[in-house]
Amino acid sequence: MHHFRYQDSKLHCESVDLANVTREFGTPTYVYSAQTISENYRRLKTSLAGLDVQICYAMKANSNLAILRLFSNLGASFDLVSGGELQRVQAAGGDVGRSVFAGVGKTEAEIKLALEAGVYGFHVESEPELARINHLAGKLGRKAPIAIRINPDVDAKTHAKITTGKSENKFGIPLAHAAAAYEAASKFPHLDLKGVQMHIGSQLTSAAPFIESVKKVVPLVQELKKRYGIEYFSIGGGIGIVYQDALASGEKTWWDAKPESERPLTPEAYGAVLAPLLVSLGLKILLEPGRFLVGNAGVLLTRVEYLKQGQGKNFLVVDAAMNDLVRPAMYEAYHELVPLTQDAARAELKADIVGPICESGDCFAKDRVLPTAGEGDVLAFMSAGAYGYTMASRYNTRGKPAEVLVSGDRFELVNAREKFEALIAGEKIPGFLKT
Ligand SMILES: *Cc1c(COP(=O)(O)O)cnc(C)c1O
Repeated sequence: MHHFRYQDSKLHCESVDLANVTREFGTPTYVYSAQTISENYRRLKTSLAGLDVQICYAMKANSNLAILRLFSNLGASFDLVSGGELQRVQAAGGDVGRSVFAGVGKTEAEIKLALEAGVYGFHVESEPELARINHLAGKLGRKAPIAIRINPDVDAKTHAKITTGKSENKFGIPLAHAAAAYEAASKFPHLDLKGVQMHIGSQLTSAAPFIESVKKVVPLVQELKKRYGIEYFSIGGGIGIVYQDALASGEKTWWDAKPESERPLTPEAYGAVLAPLLVSLGLKILLEPGRFLVGNAGVLLTRVEYLKQGQGKNFLVVDAAMNDLVRPAMYEAYHELVPLTQDAARAELKADIVGPICESGDCFAKDRVLPTAGEGDVLAFMSAGAYGYTMASRYNTRGKPAEVLVSGDRFELVNAREKFEALIAGEKIPGFLKT
């Protein structure tokens, strides 16, 4: 569920008419709904109500400081993947002490930073990493809390670039080697064995791979609890969202109309099948959702620059580009595109939706049918709250877009559009080129 709806034919985020946002802050601009995020968080938390659950929001999905503060206020901690993300949690006033640090390539500097900040757990992905963390913890006179990431070799049946739980992926340690890895870890004097971790992929739309992987790993978890007294089991993130929302058709999103069995994964269904598998463990359960919490809570507003009518093909050239939202170019991802103003009198248009960047890959959609749009019209790419701004770049010397947070009838700029001066701030012309 989300809070982007037409009221009097104007697209609103909660009670804010999005035309007011573009008037004030221009385009392209990301807009996020605080209420949607809060509801997603509470729904997921409630779905596993019988368990001791800690939600560690996977902040790589959307790491704006305002979003982090919102999560912190809701009681979430964070799943972070770099020293930079750790410093973001601190800057937002989040609790590093309840947050976990993931990633296959943690550097010495990042490990040191995380030890000093007192992270709740390092999610270790290899045996050399165990040795490195042990060594650095020893130097600092500390014990490092660790969990080993287990690769259960389960096919998450999602896009190849976001599947992580197959044995050919770079992530984690194979289940068959896990007991030996914990045995090795237990010999290191500066490591504290705190948990077990897994994460099989992103944008999963059925519960089956989650069930399969939890069932595979639970016997190991029981054994590790007995042997080392571990206190948590992190089952990762990965709950998918609906990208084909059919927002334009009215109040109800299309899956509401479908029978339960045909709906994509809901948090309630996720909780209903997973809780019974986890409850008898008597451990704290960590969840690391990213996309589910923020994906449907954001849109990217863009203005039409030109309607270019080619031979047998129309191109709608918009002012957002692959540098602002890379998901279509990178993952062939679908984003619904809707006008800010509904107008039933407008004929339909079939067009490729493209950005201004000098690459054929700078294409958001091919042969998309939408109400006719032309120069100056503003459109919204839906479900752009996750892996949108965080994956933005400055390609073509385009500053990153602005970000706005909505709550009720209030909206505030939470990240200014990047100015040219900021783009070149670190660059200089060396002396030997100045003649
Ligand atoms: C990216 C990631 C997540 C979040 O994945 P979503 O699909 O956004 O829920 C969780 N855990 C780990 C270790 C990750 O790398």
